[in-house]
Amino acid sequence: MNALYFKDLLDKTHRGVVAAVLRGGVPGGQLYGYDLVHALDEFGEPIRGKRKINEEQAAIIREIFKYYAEGRKLKHICDDLNRQGIDSPKGGKWASSSLVGSFVRQTGMLRQTLYDGFVTFNKLQYRKHPENGKRLSIVRPEKEWITVPIPELAILKEETFLKVQKALDERSSMHMQRKLIPAVMTDEERRDKSIRRSKEWRRNQAVGNKRANAVFGGKLYCGEHDQKITATYAKHYSCPVKGCANRNLHYDEIIKLVLDAIAELDEAKIIEHFESDEIQQVRAHHTREIERLTRYLEDLRASINKVIDALGPDARSSEIRAFFDDKAEQIQRTKLDIAHHKRELPGSTLPRKLENIIQRHQNLVASLRAWSRDPEAVACMRQIIERLTLCATSQNKSKAVCLANFDLQSIISTNKRP
Ligand SMILES: [Zn+2]
Repeated sequence: MNALYFKDLLDKTHRGVVAAVLRGGVPGGQLYGYDLVHALDEFGEPIRGKRKINEEQAAIIREIFKYYAEGRKLKHICDDLNRQGIDSPKGGKWASSSLVGSFVRQTGMLRQTLYDGFVTFNKLQYRKHPENGKRLSIVRPEKEWITVPIPELAILKEETFLKVQKALDERSSMHMQRKLIPAVMTDEERRDKSIRRSKEWRRNQAVGNKRANAVFGGKLYCGEHDQKITATYAKHYSCPVKGCANRNLHYDEIIKLVLDAIAELDEAKIIEHFESDEIQQVRAHHTREIERLTRYLEDLRASINKVIDALGPDARSSEIRAFFDDKAEQIQRTKLDIAHHKRELPGSTLPRKLENIIQRHQNLVASLRAWSRDPEAVACMRQIIERLTLCATSQNKSKAVCLANFDLQSIISTNKRP
């Protein structure tokens, strides 16, 4: 493994740094969680950047990662540390920005790969500013980053580190998206977003609202009048239109129809949904966009490099700054777009293990048949029901039917959770 790394690394231009890393030195200055060690190599030369774990700081790092992986807010994590009187890496108070750093540059404590036992370098490329001689740094494409394992400096379990990286990508891209996107959204995108929001809201509502004690509460519609059927008095429900057949229905008769309708979900229905032209098109769209945006991202980076190479000494600094700001924003936006499409993709992909999904669903139906108010089963089921439509006739109640519309994406995502 190490030999492979070594061969690969020697092809690159960073032999000096690589040699230092392989002797145990980590480039860069003071890093939270480690103490610098003064050591000499076999030739009696000092090894720059040799480190050992600082156990006291390592314990704090483990705590921070654990809390973040559990979904706690950055601000709350910082508040906690500050309350305990623990000094931040720079001394003084902890701030969210030192934990997450920059999304584009992939900096910040929570992204420090050394905590996972890997040194990552060659992330930035430095150029001299043509006018004032200051160093400018730009981010290299990720495939040019160099990673070398130093397992003895790992502070975290790999599993924890990876969990946090995933959460970071999701949380920061969603946060930035909320901030950046509204200004440039088309009407169609805005509509999509509001539909997505209301779905999310429904999901949260279903989990959080412990008082929703009927599985069909708020989701039941009259098939004839397209109106909500609501509770009128104890255990009775009605369509608001006078004279409608769907009036004065007892909970017991509704729940029977509803459970029959819900029980009809099977593999074929899920497959049909995912193989429909509409979903196929959605899927093709996201796949295409990911490819297109990835190419665009590469082009952006190439164009930045080209301009830096072409910059003459007489270029004006304000123009340069504007150019970089503009490109940095474009890169950020493109990365967000890619992340967005990647998040949407599973919703249009036929899930594997369909039989498990159906099995779980049928178990849920069975628990509800046994006790239709079972709060846990009710909460689970409410998450995946989009709408129930009741087509009843008062003349002949045996003919009454209920049709169920499912939020199939929810069925899949609730099944993914452990
Ligand atoms: Zn009605």
